[in-house]
Amino acid sequence: MDPAKGIKDAERRVYWLDDPRGRSESPRLDGAAETDLLVIGGGFTGLWTALLAKERDPGRAVTLIEGRRIGWAATGRNGGFCAASLTHGIGNGLARWPGEMPELQRQGLANLDEIERTVARHGIDCDFRRSGEMHVATEAWQVPELAEEAAAARSLCGGDTIEELDRDRVRAEVDSPTYLAGLWDRRGVAMIDPVRLAWGLRDACLSLGVRVHERTPALDLRAAGASMAVRTPGGGIRARQVALGTGVFAPLLRRLRHLVIPVYDYALVTEPIPERLLASVGWRNRQGIGDSANRFHYYRLTHDNRILWGGYDAIYYNGGLIKGAHNQRDRTFLTLAEHFYQTFPQLDGVRFSHRWGGVIDTCSRFSAFFGTAYGARVAYAAGYTGLGVGASRFGGNVMLDLLSGTATERTRLAMVRQTPIPFPPEPIRSGVVQLTRWSIARADEDQGRRNLWLRTLDALGVGFDS
Ligand SMILES: Cc1cc2nc3c(=O)[nH]c(=O)nc-3n(C[C@H](O)[C@H](O)[C@H](O)COP(=O)(O)OP(=O)(O)OC[C@H]3O[C@@H](n4cnc5c(N)ncnc54)[C@H](O)[C@@H]3O)c2cc1C
Repeated sequence: MDPAKGIKDAERRVYWLDDPRGRSESPRLDGAAETDLLVIGGGFTGLWTALLAKERDPGRAVTLIEGRRIGWAATGRNGGFCAASLTHGIGNGLARWPGEMPELQRQGLANLDEIERTVARHGIDCDFRRSGEMHVATEAWQVPELAEEAAAARSLCGGDTIEELDRDRVRAEVDSPTYLAGLWDRRGVAMIDPVRLAWGLRDACLSLGVRVHERTPALDLRAAGASMAVRTPGGGIRARQVALGTGVFAPLLRRLRHLVIPVYDYALVTEPIPERLLASVGWRNRQGIGDSANRFHYYRLTHDNRILWGGYDAIYYNGGLIKGAHNQRDRTFLTLAEHFYQTFPQLDGVRFSHRWGGVIDTCSRFSAFFGTAYGARVAYAAGYTGLGVGASRFGGNVMLDLLSGTATERTRLAMVRQTPIPFPPEPIRSGVVQLTRWSIARADEDQGRRNLWLRTLDALGVGFDS
């Protein structure tokens, strides 16, 4: 189908948030309040932090404030790949913390196991499926790279859940003429409905006594005697401790300004695909799929047999502004649709029903970083760079560890103790990011060969290789 026709009637809204079940809104904060722990941000990082805080210490007063609605930002807009990886993949982790990777993988898998248990314990209806993720090679140069990835994954995670697939076997799982080989990690990723997980976490927080306020932005953050104080439009709140889960938005701490930049990612969702037509693709095991280019696509089935198809373009708008208008980019939607029909020609008549984008908190090491401020009364976790659905629970735990002042297996990790290299100020920042994007696109067109610029970034420890 002509890609323009395929997206013509797609609504400009987020499929996950377009849920007829809706949900009630928590009241905004009016007047003055006090709490033991104030969590700022109602995305996955904030929600997990508040829930874990109550689970650790039911007697502690915990309040969560969200500037808009729970899960409206990256948390409600993502692909729903809930990964064990804390390091944005094995390759990125091995390049930075080779000695620590077995432990990072172990803690990441334990974190994903705990997410699964929490979902079951609180009866969260979020279509959680531990169906894994399959990486597919669509160019010859990616085939040996997949084999290397498989060897690394086996040595770190044990062999039994990592399956290498040749062309016939990968196509027997999911049939695309573009596939040359595959690697299926059966345990390391779960597929979820992110909005229903966020709403479920909010309900679990409420059931444990967390006070939740939506439409309550924190306007500032300052020390007030032994406490911290935050102004809100309707009043203010004093807290003994504060955990920041504010993602890429205007940071309440100056130091975060140079550590995260907003990069936009886009996705499409198809209409529901009839059983018979879906059978022409296979996909009976409903695993998530990602291809192996530097500019990669990620895709998956939804509970009602639509395909969510996203990725490829990662857009930094010069100047780094976060704007609602950036959540739509027709050039990217057209490219995505074109690639979809090339991947699944048997779905040529299928049209898209939704199109949207969202902003990712990108940092120079491509995986979350953590720290404290104001004499360890404030903790932060940010920089998940597009792989924070699972890792945000780990981020919440790290913040609580740091606020407790007690060393744990998490806070002992070099990955947790180290801070990423800051981005240069604008306008140099825009130049550096656009040159990097251009070089990554060239590498994909040139058998994966990295040019001098990418090799320099690799040598400086800030190179990205998906
Ligand atoms: C299109 C897209 C696809 C993605 N796909 C995946 C995927 O498949 N798998 C994966 O692991 N990750 C994916 N990600 C990334 C993932 O969504 C994020 O890493 C994760 O949701 C981060 O959660 P968060 O809570 O840290 O940030 P956010 O979800 O951005 O939440 C931050 C919240 O803080 C609030 N806030 C900010 N400042 C204030 C303030 N001053 N006062 C009050 N509230 C404030 C904001 O309103 C917002 O709700 C994707 C992201 C996008 C955009």
